[in-house]
Amino acid sequence: MFSVDDTLRPGSQRRDELVPSRYALRVGEIDVLVISDGVFPLPATTLATNAAPADLAAWLDDRLQPSDVYKWPLNVVVVRSGGRTVLIDAGMGAEYPDLPRAGGRLAMRLEAAGIDPASVTDVVLTHLHVDHVGGLLADGLKGRLRPDVPIHLAAAEAEFWASPDFSRNSFPPRMPDVLRSAAGRVMDEYRSQLRPFEAEYEVAPGVVVCRTGGHTPGHSVVRLASGDDRLTFLGDAVFPDHFDRPDWYNAFDHDPEEAVRVRVRLLRELAATREPLVAAHLSFPSVGRVAVAGDVFRWVPVNWDF
Ligand SMILES: [Zn+2]
Repeated sequence: MFSVDDTLRPGSQRRDELVPSRYALRVGEIDVLVISDGVFPLPATTLATNAAPADLAAWLDDRLQPSDVYKWPLNVVVVRSGGRTVLIDAGMGAEYPDLPRAGGRLAMRLEAAGIDPASVTDVVLTHLHVDHVGGLLADGLKGRLRPDVPIHLAAAEAEFWASPDFSRNSFPPRMPDVLRSAAGRVMDEYRSQLRPFEAEYEVAPGVVVCRTGGHTPGHSVVRLASGDDRLTFLGDAVFPDHFDRPDWYNAFDHDPEEAVRVRVRLLRELAATREPLVAAHLSFPSVGRVAVAGDVFRWVPVNWDF
């Protein structure tokens, strides 16, 4: 049992770990660990490429954020169910050299959380953006995962990155090359381990990865269900601004209109069921619920509950 025991074990925090960067919870019989991979500073305009500049500035100012840069939180999830240990996304790795030193150190943070990469039985990739796959290319994780560990991703995602079309994105400079390079190398270096699925795949008991599309053609969410408990990992379906402005296009949405439809459908569903969610780019540990607030939504973080 890695969750509560490891969190409480005296001396389990490594000396070079800046802060404890894992949050453990249980979904019925499923152990869940949210692990922070730090933050990724990007131009704030990446949050909303179709927003009027004054509207985005007002949203940022309302949250006491600077107008030019927004630090995207990076969250990775590990689940254990039925004897399988599933790593969902792999963090940024060393693909962005400008990253502050607290970011892109997933191997260290996994180790501090008591997760030996060799114990991972499955990897799930919600999509192939660099901040979700870069860790597979970085020292620390690369070479320490089992050489035959299966990597599950939507078939549409693998197809897209064979010849990516960025015509509908509004990326910061250098980003297209970084994205193309990281996704291409992951597909090359792990080709024999890729296990593409069409619509959904049950990776472990109660752990189902489901393609949504939108953000990327094969973008997927992961549904956890055990007994009466549920938790959905939304990946990049929702960014911090999307509770107030679900209609804003993220710069990384490859099909922005479809991304909005997917986002609104998921948020409406989770508001109706009151089930908790976790997401890649909400504030760590990013576990909470969503409420309907008139025409839009409201984020309701859970209380930390050990
Ligand atoms: Zn992302």
